[in-house]
Amino acid sequence: MSVDVRPYAPISSRPSWICRTRAERERFLDMHARILPAHQRVLVLLILLLVPTIPWDEPWAPVPVVAAMVGYAWAQHNAMRHDRPELTIAAGIAVGLLMLTVALVLDGQQHRPGLAILIWPLVAAGGRFPARVVWVLTAYAVALMVGAALGFDGGVVLRDPIVLTLPLATMLAVVMMSSVIRESDAQHRSAAILDGLTGMLNRTALAARTDEIEHQSAIAGHSVAVIVADVDHFKAVNDSHGHGVGDHVLRDLAGVLRKELRAFDLAYRVGGEEFAVIMPGADEQAGTELAERLRVAVAAEPIAGLAVTMSFGVASGAPGAFAWDDAYARADAALYGAKQDGRNVVRRASGLPDAPASPLPLVAY
Ligand code: GH3
Ligand code: MG
Ligand code: MG
Repeated sequence: MSVDVRPYAPISSRPSWICRTRAERERFLDMHARILPAHQRVLVLLILLLVPTIPWDEPWAPVPVVAAMVGYAWAQHNAMRHDRPELTIAAGIAVGLLMLTVALVLDGQQHRPGLAILIWPLVAAGGRFPARVVWVLTAYAVALMVGAALGFDGGVVLRDPIVLTLPLATMLAVVMMSSVIRESDAQHRSAAILDGLTGMLNRTALAARTDEIEHQSAIAGHSVAVIVADVDHFKAVNDSHGHGVGDHVLRDLAGVLRKELRAFDLAYRVGGEEFAVIMPGADEQAGTELAERLRVAVAAEPIAGLAVTMSFGVASGAPGAFAWDDAYARADAALYGAKQDGRNVVRRASGLPDAPASPLPLVAY
């Protein structure tokens, strides 16, 4: 299914408690775009079905509902303007749950089926967030539900407990059942976008991201640097030591690269022994400096017991006009130049002098 590319702000490289890993952030971004249109349909349904049938005994009661709806719609549509949009959405859901509960109590609905409406935001949370976040929000919703039912004329619940136990059981059952679907979805997503050998993002993940990065560049007017890297003489590693050792080298190499990168940097295994790093907001100079750090880190220590080096090509798009195909082709051409120049070097597409080179001697370990 293709998803509309919305005007994303640059997504932060900082994790949050809500999205701790890259895979969690990726799932959130994808599911958020899918859930938005479903939410609009649910809103229409609620308006058509509930507004005519709710016994609004208290004239102020609808106010928190309208506030919750407007606030939540605002959070949904503006989340992408923030660099960690998951925080905005989680806060929107928490405030929405509170407002719905306040409205129920104001209208004296806390002992009627109205409490079941609190299930809806939790399902929306389960679609986007990992289990720990959904369970925290569920505990919060349970507290609101029990607090509303017992805290305001709780004698009704003691005489007729079903007014509380039915919506409570339904809520917990829905969250439990949807957690199975969520875990399966998260597992399959990880398998689809992560390379099994190195644990890095794969080509599928890259293809899903390039449109969005172009869009971000156009909106924010920033440049994007692309680094492509290729292991030097890797065929010789396979030929001399066997494919198993070659695999071991790739795995350990990915670990060395990861140590230099931040948790949320966009680093991909794009081919057998070829890698790409995308740096939103960075120019060619910044890309060259990171490539140089990566080059030195790889050459500095034995990898799977062997002396391994990599060559790098770096390119960037003009501010606000990043085009992935063009930048990748230019970075790849620069990489070809690095190979021509003897390998274990960084070359930039612009042809400007490289970052201060500190070539490490090739040492046989
Ligand atoms: P250069 O310095 O010019 O890049 O030389 P090279 O030998 O690295 O280049 P070449 O493209 O000829 O060789 C790449 C090799 O990588 C060939 C292929 O067998 C090997 N390869 C690709 N994927 C894997 C993999 O997953 N595991 C292992 N062990 N080898 C792989
Ligand atoms: Mg290659
Ligand atoms: Mg190679």
